[in-house]
Amino acid sequence: MEVELEIRKGVALKNYTSWRVGGEAEFFCEVHSAKELVCAITSYCGKDKKKKEKKFKKVTVLGSGSNVLISDKGIKGLTIINKAKAIYEDSQEENLLIAESGVNLAVLYKAALNKKHCDLSALAAIPATVGGAVVSNAGAYGDEISKHIEWIEVLSGNKLKVLKPTECGFGYRKSNFLTFLHNDTILRVAFKKEEFCATKAEIKRKGYLEYRNRTQPKGYSAGSTFKAVSNLNALNPAAIYIDKAGLKGYTIGGAVVSQLHANFILNLRDATASDIKDLINYIKATVKEKFSVMLTEEVQYLGLW
Ligand SMILES: Cc1cc2nc3c(=O)[nH]c(=O)nc-3n(C[C@H](O)[C@H](O)[C@H](O)COP(=O)(O)OP(=O)(O)OC[C@H]3O[C@@H](n4cnc5c(N)ncnc54)[C@H](O)[C@@H]3O)c2cc1C
Repeated sequence: MEVELEIRKGVALKNYTSWRVGGEAEFFCEVHSAKELVCAITSYCGKDKKKKEKKFKKVTVLGSGSNVLISDKGIKGLTIINKAKAIYEDSQEENLLIAESGVNLAVLYKAALNKKHCDLSALAAIPATVGGAVVSNAGAYGDEISKHIEWIEVLSGNKLKVLKPTECGFGYRKSNFLTFLHNDTILRVAFKKEEFCATKAEIKRKGYLEYRNRTQPKGYSAGSTFKAVSNLNALNPAAIYIDKAGLKGYTIGGAVVSQLHANFILNLRDATASDIKDLINYIKATVKEKFSVMLTEEVQYLGLW
């Protein structure tokens, strides 16, 4: 399976993240299909001694870059921007809608609606690709992506595997892809067919969007910085602690805690990744000191810290 991929050196990654911060990718390429994604990884990261190309030790796959803080020092190895965007109904199992991992959730929502497949209205406004959403089990308004999944196709080493959701350790903003499956690359995800009303789904989506626009700040952020805090059987929003600690508007360098939503850190004035990391650490220390609560990041750190 040979595909020509353009590998570039020293590409600024800030343009590929929603925070607009971070250094350069040592090596960089974009892929436009699951096939190209497999090729990028297997041809450039394998141990084929016959070929003379440079072999990259490390591969990082980025979707929309909306849940990552990339170090100012950048990322070593090959960074792949995943634009694999095909969506189709399975020809053998007509009950499945299959999306490549670079499909945007808004596009997936629309396709699922048009094909009368399933209701993804709660997920439609999350600025994510399918792959990135699976990694953190993205969700909102009581729904999460894992609830709709039949199987996930991954590249593990140089082997293709199909995983059931029960093998992926899904929980609140977590999956095994953040831990022991972190070297697996998500290629395709199959979504189950569900009974639902398309008109109601569209009404719900508009309501959720209106709520987001009212309660979340515009600008460069990664959405919620911290996970909700588990307290007995309930989840308390991290924003409550940050707000009560008086940190709204607190600024380090170009990074500021949003006045509208205390769990959002905004890149207001050319912030660096270090500004944001310092602000994250300051928030954690302050909330710990005031309430004896340890906040944990929802965002993931990438690169050399
Ligand atoms: C304004 C705003 C609102 C948000 N609202 C929500 C919300 O309501 N709910 C929510 O859950 N999140 C929310 N987020 C956070 C973010 O959108 C989600 O976490 C999303 O799932 C990240 O997807 P992504 O494609 O951007 O992943 P990225 O940020 O690109 O990557 C995240 C991680 O997944 C890995 N990864 C990406 N693709 C693959 C792949 N194909 N295979 C293996 N690993 C991969 C990356 O290496 C990285 O470790 C919000 C963010 C913003 C900016």
